[in-house]
Amino acid sequence: MFFRRSSLVIPALALAAGSAFAQAPRTKVDDLALRNAAQSKGEEWLSYGFTPQETRYSPLTQINASNVSRLGLAWSYEVGPGGGGQEATPLVHNGVIFSTTQWSVVFAVDARTGKEKWRWDPEVNQTALRSKICCGVVQRGIAMYDGKIIAPSIDGRLFALDEETGKPVWESRVAYPQDNYTLTMAPRVAKGKVIIGVSGAEYPVRGFIAAFDAKTGQQSWKFYTVPGPGDKDPGLIKAAATWPKNIIGGGGATVWDAISYDPELELVYIGTGNAGPWSEDTRMSKGFDLLYAASIVAVDVNTGLYKWHFQNVPGDEWDFDSVQHLLQADVTIKGVKRKVLMQANKNGFLYTIDRTNGKFVRAIPFAKVNWALGLDESTGRPILNPNAKYSETESVNITPGPGGAHNWSPMSFNPNLGLLYVSGQSGGGFTYAVQPNFQFNPQGQNMGIVFGRGPAPAPAKPAVGAPAAAGENVSPEVAAARAAAAAAAAAAPPAPAPAAAKLREPLAAIGPEKDGGFLMAYDAATGQERWRVPGGSAIGGGTFATASNLVFQATGGKLYAYSADKGEKLLEIATGVPGQMAPPITYMVDGKQYVAIQIGNGPPPPPANGAPAPPPNPNAPPAMKPRLLVYALDGTAKLP
Ligand code: CA
Repeated sequence: MFFRRSSLVIPALALAAGSAFAQAPRTKVDDLALRNAAQSKGEEWLSYGFTPQETRYSPLTQINASNVSRLGLAWSYEVGPGGGGQEATPLVHNGVIFSTTQWSVVFAVDARTGKEKWRWDPEVNQTALRSKICCGVVQRGIAMYDGKIIAPSIDGRLFALDEETGKPVWESRVAYPQDNYTLTMAPRVAKGKVIIGVSGAEYPVRGFIAAFDAKTGQQSWKFYTVPGPGDKDPGLIKAAATWPKNIIGGGGATVWDAISYDPELELVYIGTGNAGPWSEDTRMSKGFDLLYAASIVAVDVNTGLYKWHFQNVPGDEWDFDSVQHLLQADVTIKGVKRKVLMQANKNGFLYTIDRTNGKFVRAIPFAKVNWALGLDESTGRPILNPNAKYSETESVNITPGPGGAHNWSPMSFNPNLGLLYVSGQSGGGFTYAVQPNFQFNPQGQNMGIVFGRGPAPAPAKPAVGAPAAAGENVSPEVAAARAAAAAAAAAAPPAPAPAAAKLREPLAAIGPEKDGGFLMAYDAATGQERWRVPGGSAIGGGTFATASNLVFQATGGKLYAYSADKGEKLLEIATGVPGQMAPPITYMVDGKQYVAIQIGNGPPPPPANGAPAPPPNPNAPPAMKPRLLVYALDGTAKLP
């Protein structure tokens, strides 16, 4: 699998690791190791989704259906100060766990013991950056290549750190926060290139992905998701006809989560965010499809040029980012072996797309959907509910809301069973109305909709920092925008409220009857749901599957395991750490299998510049700092 080069054995480091076990020869992660992860023994977790196909399916079998109930905490590691949710997928290589925190602080700890090996802090100017972060201070991961940890910094920088020491090897620049961009996603290494996208489609930005030489940090290419002046890519020249002449604020369509890669086809798959502003009235785009926003796009890894696209929601008005997990599988559908991509979209449909050409194969509503009556059977284009559009005078409650039926919680796929596992959320909605007298803000968020002013059943505007009301399905950007609106309202003299828009009658919905969070197993070959259990979230946590007929799920502060074929619950552990859960992973070192997960928001750090701290809430439980929790069979460790 890996090139085992004896010259890379470093005895001093073997001693420093302090293990009683003989050290395996140290290896460097290369294209072959990344490409063949599915054929490995599964001891290491080398890239964001375990494989370039983003399968999150581990070949490990030591933890199985008969013993998984014995899983207990083996050790834990405090990942650093709080003040943001943990969202990173840790990587494992050479007996070391590598990961990153919400402020992009990278750490390396012994995978057996949690003993810290190194930490590296990009020293983000947190005070200066906060107003440019739309949806929480978060970072979803790192990449690994050629003895280096590839670490994005939320402020737009990209670093390569020496895997052994944590010292920077090169530094590059993906984007500038002055231009309203931030970085929150995990990069992907494909054919020696580091590929990464940007966040912030609610800001005036033009979405893109960029590729950097993994050895030097030099930019190789950049692919914009929205047409602009001077375009040379024929795909973008074609897309220009689908936008109005004046694209407000860059167009949006940022790529802030999924990137998967097919090493045989040499195609990079990306999902793109919403067009900005959200409502077509404010962006003056009635009747335009807005390519390549709210789309799945394939780009040539060598050139960065457009290959094909599938647009999930033409002319989207409901924040249906299509950045969700793009999971590749080879499945036989109606007797034909097909190379497909599967995506459980924010919009409530689970899509199967031919990844060689972008052609629609099939879709099902996996959660309640009322914005569309269905999809065109041959093209997959939505058949819109004519009442799903909104204006200044007419508002409508739409499900799924901007939080999505499925957001960035990773899925997983068991190739032996042919089952895809999706953690999501059905029901709940969000009331949309166009913001009257919309003023474009070149330095801030521009949604062009009204928050918390819709008539019943829209919930009352929550207080700053309050969680979403029951039954409400909002995204972090909505929560953040509400907080900003509430803060601005508190600071400004009261203005006369504009007349509320008239709420339309509730729209009929398609999809499952039952509301709430769930974990579902979807048969990729037949297109049928195989099983569904309650409990699950669209944002955070997520799943991995193993070859021992298990699927693990992290949600609501708990770690679960189910039988992969039938969905029988075999494990439920309360982690004891409150706050945001990151995706779980598994690995094996010295013959022992572990399950690891990063979790927690923790107390915010003390205010900078001597600013007064907010008054403490006497009813709040003592905040626990975010941690990396590592479980093993018969683990007996306690949280401090
Ligand atoms: Ca969005």
